Amino acid sequence: MTFLRMEEQDLANKRVLIREDLNVPIKDGAVANDTRIRAALPTIKLALASAKQVIVMCHLGRPVEGVQITEQPEFSLAPVAKHLSKLLETEVSLIADYLENPVALENLTGLILLENVRVNTGEKANADELAERYGKLCDVFVMDAFGTAHRAQASTHGVAKFADVACAGPLLAKELDALEKSLTNPERPMLAIVGGAKVSSKLEVLNTLSKKVDQLIVGGGIANTFLLAAGYPVGNSLCEPDLVDTARQLLDSTNIPLPTDVVVAKEFSENATPITKPVTDVADDEMILDIGPDSSANLASLINDMKTIIWNGPVGVFEFEQFAGGTKRIAQAVAANQGFSIAGGGETIAAIDEFQVTSEISYISTGGGAFLEYVQGIELPAVQVLKERGR
Ligand code: AMP
Repeated sequence: MTFLRMEEQDLANKRVLIREDLNVPIKDGAVANDTRIRAALPTIKLALASAKQVIVMCHLGRPVEGVQITEQPEFSLAPVAKHLSKLLETEVSLIADYLENPVALENLTGLILLENVRVNTGEKANADELAERYGKLCDVFVMDAFGTAHRAQASTHGVAKFADVACAGPLLAKELDALEKSLTNPERPMLAIVGGAKVSSKLEVLNTLSKKVDQLIVGGGIANTFLLAAGYPVGNSLCEPDLVDTARQLLDSTNIPLPTDVVVAKEFSENATPITKPVTDVADDEMILDIGPDSSANLASLINDMKTIIWNGPVGVFEFEQFAGGTKRIAQAVAANQGFSIAGGGETIAAIDEFQVTSEISYISTGGGAFLEYVQGIELPAVQVLKERGR
């Protein structure tokens, strides 16, 4: 690929700004899953070993833009700074006023973490004014956040236009290399498993993938829309009735096995009582929160026959133990598969980690949306700009 790489740059005496994807789940003020943080460590360590100053920037969740982090502390990167400091065994300074007071930043040593970039006005709109200010914080900008490479935002795309040097970090480059290798000539049969809650965003992805793969498994909220399209009652389940036509077309054109049994509850809660029942029997006041044991056994045997598997998104609310069975069975089946398996997305890697099958999946990508867009063949804007700068 035709972009500059961080490993090839002389970082001595340089101020290096790295965009990482440290958007991790936070529970009770602490990092609940640190897979993304651990994935970024080699890049950060490499930069710390030679650069004059290393500044890391990233986002966390979806705070309100233009509102100070002190007004919405639940989106602060404080837990990430603490965790990073523990893993690196070094002090991490979390800085909030880096735009107002960039000169103060210049005098800091050690690792610097900038507060959530998504509170900065212009971040989402990729405003040049903000991007230029990010660019001025460094001599070398390193884009290493594969998970946000599909978004043209000031910290992922715009900044690369303004920094003196813009290059790809080792993690981003590794992700791109692995994806390219696995998708150029996939061994068949090929299967995609697409689960999760974001029905509307992923239906487009499903459309494209359905043309590439031999078999498609849908799960989670997405499966509910397909069940509705197939005429099953979905009660109170998360689903998008306005996308039923799209789902119906996909059902007609592609091999999509639907669940035969489901696990339902009357409320969406950690303490909800699970009931396993045939998919035909979902009552008006029930919501489908997982696939049942018959469905997961059928899917596991289908997974067993595949040579290439792409997986994004859980097939149930795996965060609640009583609705984790389906996703666990799928994770185990993908792990046992002898072909090439690639999994991506925050929730998916959290599930894979929880069910302790990480080492048996061929490649784990840290990206969710970016992973899916890459799979579709869409050029990632943050990579595109690196290529332009690399020419
Ligand atoms: P996504 O980020 O789109 O991959 O969605 C992941 C989220 O989908 C997880 O947090 C799951 O709890 C949630 N999810 C999975 N299945 C369901 C379901 N049947 N109903 C509601 N949410 C679900």
